[in-house]
Amino acid sequence: MLPPRIVWKTIYRKPPDSVFMAQYDVVIIGGGHNGLASACIMARNGLKVLVLERREIVGGMCATEEIFSGFSYDTGCFYPYWLRQDTVDELRLSKHGLEFIDSGGIAYSALFPDGRYLTVYEDAKKTGQEIEKFSRKDAQSYLEFVTFWKRFRPVVDAFLLSPPPPLDLLTDIAKPLPVKVALLKLLGRLPPSVNKALDFLKEPENIEALAEFFFKPMGAKLDELFESDYVKIALASESLVVSQSGPSSAPLSALVWRVIMKERTGRVRGGMGNFPLALKKAAEDAGARILVNAEVERVIVKDRVARGVKLKNGEEIESRIVASNADPHRTFLGLVGQEHFDDRTLKRIMKYRLVSTGLRLNYALSRKPSFAIPDEKLVGALTYCPSLDYAEKAFAEAAMGDPPSKPLLLLDVPTAADSTLAPSGAHILQSWVNPTVYEARRGSWDTIKESYADNLTHLIAESASNFENSILHRFLQTPLDYERRFYATGGDVEHGDLSYYQLLWFRPILGYYDGRTPIRNLYLVGSGIHPGGGVRALAGMIAARTILSDIESGRIA
Ligand SMILES: Cc1cc2nc3c(=O)[nH]c(=O)nc-3n(C[C@H](O)[C@H](O)[C@H](O)COP(=O)(O)OP(=O)(O)OC[C@H]3O[C@@H](n4cnc5c(N)ncnc54)[C@H](O)[C@@H]3O)c2cc1C
Repeated sequence: MLPPRIVWKTIYRKPPDSVFMAQYDVVIIGGGHNGLASACIMARNGLKVLVLERREIVGGMCATEEIFSGFSYDTGCFYPYWLRQDTVDELRLSKHGLEFIDSGGIAYSALFPDGRYLTVYEDAKKTGQEIEKFSRKDAQSYLEFVTFWKRFRPVVDAFLLSPPPPLDLLTDIAKPLPVKVALLKLLGRLPPSVNKALDFLKEPENIEALAEFFFKPMGAKLDELFESDYVKIALASESLVVSQSGPSSAPLSALVWRVIMKERTGRVRGGMGNFPLALKKAAEDAGARILVNAEVERVIVKDRVARGVKLKNGEEIESRIVASNADPHRTFLGLVGQEHFDDRTLKRIMKYRLVSTGLRLNYALSRKPSFAIPDEKLVGALTYCPSLDYAEKAFAEAAMGDPPSKPLLLLDVPTAADSTLAPSGAHILQSWVNPTVYEARRGSWDTIKESYADNLTHLIAESASNFENSILHRFLQTPLDYERRFYATGGDVEHGDLSYYQLLWFRPILGYYDGRTPIRNLYLVGSGIHPGGGVRALAGMIAARTILSDIESGRIA
């Protein structure tokens, strides 16, 4: 639910001579999908909003771009797995052109080197039938596993959709915690997330499960539940393609999250870039102004209060509120400047960790690649991870600073379901390759990039016989390229490590998780706040609501 419409008069009343002399209630640095979602909500609530995007297109790491004539690729995100239908509805994006292609519930298919495959569906029963090809017993274990963890969903939802409950609920020592919580529960004043979590934790079995969720290695859980290596690999493969560690150390939660908690399958018609384009239209429709090719050089801060921005071309724009869609390091250390923070806060900002996961290699192909699965299954993703040991070795190599010679692959042929992305008869193949490194130990990315792309091409060809001789073009983006192209500091596509120590109250710094920052009138509206990265628009929406409520309560200086 949105807060009631707020009519808020700007303090600047001078009529604008040009857009750059105009004064705004809110200037948003960056037109990534989160920045646009926040713009949409704030504009709908009566604020005068300007979005400044440095690139020539909006969307940030969620964009579809024509890199080679006639071929359009997702240069960032390719799957809308985390995009909730209630978000799409609330932002009214269908009205603004957003369409999904149904995958028939297929999430992905795991390819094995012997030509077999296992398809994972949204529907656990259908996945169970696939698993039966390998083990009857495992099919039953899978159904029980999914049924058990699905009960956890309402708790996750409650935490995802709003900022975490106020920290003083836990730290206030004026009253013993149980008394305070009991009192609030009695009064019906506990945040829904705490309420749901407390109900969930009434059962000891759930407490045990939670301990496993956070601390048990997924490999150990897979060994406990399943007998078939095919099943273990198939279930783990899609979690491991976004993991920072192998199956012997990645937590069970990574598996539960990817196999059970996805919001949807399918894809966005015309490429993921159509999602931010719909957001842009929705925001403009609500009155927001969105400018591209407009790079912000710094945030104007006076007496620890943000007062506007200075653009790279020297122009200054005053605004009552500055909201940054750039990552926390780029915002605090680059756009604001260290001198505006006290030592303690600066230490916290510095220790916020950015990590790089996969790289992206996209191909233009003269024909459809022939993988060993029925054509209709190409609408979902494909994973390639021959064994859990294979994965372990790849992560060990990356940990030593080498891009692994045999990494895990996530492959995607969007043209199998969407002919708008390539010329007639031609296809594109998009891949996500994990693990990888931001800086290679031996040789910089700029020198090893092409030979590494050759290596990956041979690896992909092991699963699709006609692939190598169909290649017309290829386009490799390393984490370093994400930094150059998207301003993703450290090549981190989530604006900061999504491990537990950087979630909830700690994202990006203790106590500032809902968009507020230590600088008054400056807010973060991107993936660097709760609930983190991925394409879901929730961070932008949460931050927009924080801003609206701060306006209402007079917290804006
Ligand atoms: C290759 C790849 C694959 C991915 N796959 C998936 C996937 O399948 N599913 C999924 O959910 N997520 C995926 N992700 C992650 C997801 O795309 C990101 O987490 C998400 O898009 C981040 O959105 P954001 O709006 O918070 O930030 P960003 O997209 O980073 O947007 C920030 C914007 O701010 C702009 N900006 C920065 N500094 C300035 C400045 N000084 N002045 C003006 N503008 C500025 C940037 O240009 C950018 O447009 C992927 C990412 C990549 C790179």
